[in-house]
Amino acid sequence: MNIILLGPPGAGKGTQAHILVEERGMTQLSTGDMLREAKDSGTEMGKVVADVMARGELVTDEIVIGLIREKINGENGGGFIFDGFPRTLAQADALAELLAETGQTLDAVVEMRVDDEALVQRITARSTCGNCGAVYNDITKPWPEDGKCANCGSTEVKRRADDNEESLKQRLMEYYKKTSPLLGYYYAKGDLETIDGLGEIDEVKARIASALDG
Ligand code: AMP
Repeated sequence: MNIILLGPPGAGKGTQAHILVEERGMTQLSTGDMLREAKDSGTEMGKVVADVMARGELVTDEIVIGLIREKINGENGGGFIFDGFPRTLAQADALAELLAETGQTLDAVVEMRVDDEALVQRITARSTCGNCGAVYNDITKPWPEDGKCANCGSTEVKRRADDNEESLKQRLMEYYKKTSPLLGYYYAKGDLETIDGLGEIDEVKARIASALDG
């Protein structure tokens, strides 16, 4: 089963993708993670995209489609979770072509709906474990008092360079201008399932499960 998790920054796509990987053996393809890796490892492409990402703008379609093209033929375990891709109509068309070329299908698009105020609160309070990627929130799920990640014991707290109010405003604008048209696109294709992304992680997980399993 190949699925897309669609929603604005802070909707919880990464958190829920991690759960689907753990519990269903699916394979997460996050273009944001791939771009951050390229940036951290100092590749030419990483240098090109670093400023664009820090400003909260979208990287070119060509670059992100190239990243997905490299992965889509690979091992997909229990199916791919596209997380943060596609973000434009051109990317959605490219994904449809890549899937068709490799004899695969898109089985569901799950829209995670969260109101804007909650997004700002989530993102400006967000940190992750630098080792295992577990997500924390200063208010709702603070780091354990001993400073060790509850999942893996690492003490490496990471905050994203673009998780500040200024970049977030831009990221939200990009979402509404360029990504939200995908909701109509996938609705018209009959693939769209909308769930409420507010609430406890387990509640959201259950809503996703019922969207996927019917
Ligand atoms: P994310 O981790 O999904 O929030 O992505 C972080 C940043 O990476 C975004 O704000 C964009 O600058 C860039 N990015 C990630 N995925 C895409 C994509 N599919 N298209 C364009 N830019 C992307």
